[in-house]
Amino acid sequence: MNISGKTSVIGLIGNPVEHTLSPVIHNGLGERLNIPSVYVPFLVEKEGLSAAVKGAYALHIKGLNVTVPHKNDVMDSLVEIDEAAAAIGAVNTLVRCEEKGGYKGYNTDMSGLRRQMKEDGISLKGETVVILGAGGAAKAVAYMCLIEGVAKIYLLNRTVEKAGEIAGKLDPEGKVIVPMALADYGKLLEGLEKWIVFQATSIGLAPHIDQVVIEDGSFYDRVKIGVDLIYNPAETKFMKLVAAHGGKAFNALKMLLYQGIIAYELWHDMTVPEDVAAEIYTELRRQVYPKDNIVLIGYMGSGKTTFGKALAKHFDMDFLDTDGYIERQAGKKISEIFAEEGEEAFRKLETEALTGLRDSLQHTVVATGGGMPLRPENARLLREIGRVCYLTAAPQVIYERVKEDGNRPLLKGEDPYGTICRMMKQREPMYRRAADVAVDANCDSIEEMLERLIPAVGVE
Ligand code: NAP
Repeated sequence: MNISGKTSVIGLIGNPVEHTLSPVIHNGLGERLNIPSVYVPFLVEKEGLSAAVKGAYALHIKGLNVTVPHKNDVMDSLVEIDEAAAAIGAVNTLVRCEEKGGYKGYNTDMSGLRRQMKEDGISLKGETVVILGAGGAAKAVAYMCLIEGVAKIYLLNRTVEKAGEIAGKLDPEGKVIVPMALADYGKLLEGLEKWIVFQATSIGLAPHIDQVVIEDGSFYDRVKIGVDLIYNPAETKFMKLVAAHGGKAFNALKMLLYQGIIAYELWHDMTVPEDVAAEIYTELRRQVYPKDNIVLIGYMGSGKTTFGKALAKHFDMDFLDTDGYIERQAGKKISEIFAEEGEEAFRKLETEALTGLRDSLQHTVVATGGGMPLRPENARLLREIGRVCYLTAAPQVIYERVKEDGNRPLLKGEDPYGTICRMMKQREPMYRRAADVAVDANCDSIEEMLERLIPAVGVE
């Protein structure tokens, strides 16, 4: 990161702040959008909150996120509060308001979840919704459901008074929200309708991954869509129960992504392009769900299979070749897939294969097909699977390695060496972009290649 006099500072205030994922979002956005900004977490104690907000404004800090325990108390230090944030009673984003000489507060948790719902294709209009929990997150969910025009909200909480408070504030006439004790969920089963359920309690969060507030299968029979606000583990027990009873289950890592993206958009008065948001989501997934696989990418003949097998043996890891995997899945040769169904169908199979492998592969060295990382979607999936290592080699070296191989259709043309040069030049930037690290593979000795690869792949 190149910090200059033009770099603006954005950040987070809270306590604690050590484990925040927000720098991944905001510094990642600055880097990809070429915006000179740096995002820093600031530890702020309760007593110092008002001084911190004033000081930040004086320091021309462009914007701040606010996390626990300050989301409510920070409102006293602001010059303006957005309508939704005021209704929810929680602010997580501060934006400079020069006319009034202070910060305006927003709640992008709510708008982040709203954007996630849109992206996941979930419409709330006219639906019956069940919200489990009545803490800060549940209140934001209830507000979102109201502005999306749901027909009914059953708000279930262990401490029923808290559900009552939320209902009283957001729906004073009691037309939509029905506060209930969690233990009374059985009453909901008397009707016949199916619901969209938001799991907004803190139960099920790693490491307590076997916990859920309702175990009863007859409850889950009625859930058509279940959204767990918890995103770690990736599939909570609540989500497993929803899926096992035929519903669609989602976690809310995208809510975290979009609350950050919306804050960044407010601070910089711009719209983050979808492909950049997708890249940041990949980086978040890598942080939250780290994998110990090694992915080798590069042009044909760069040594992905040969060196990959040696690397797997060295680290006592499994080895997987994606082309072989796809052939086994499809029950036919790649050349047959190309001939019978076309390249687009093959690329689709690649993406499907990677999506499955992303969730299942562990401790494996993966050698990829040469064209696989050229699709941005595949490149993102590969980064989620593991650390991506690009094997680079000169066209002449590649040509010498593959010229006798009769299975390479490319080499059947008139000028195979020229084709290799042209394709490699075209693919080079995409390989570099997809990779965490590049390793010079202009070398035929396995021992020497291992000496180069071992420090690069980051296995401890
Ligand atoms: P909170 O204000 O502390 O509320 C916690 C909720 O969990 C309350 O409803 C509480 O019920 C309930 N609860 C706790 N222990 C329980 C138990 N043993 N049995 C039944 N219910 C229990 O927390 P929050 O800020 O609303 O956050 C709730 C969850 O949402 C957290 O896991 C958080 O990680 C997640 N979240 C995710 C995002 C995201 O970006 N994806 C954003 C915000 C929050 P009582 O009122 O009875 O104590």
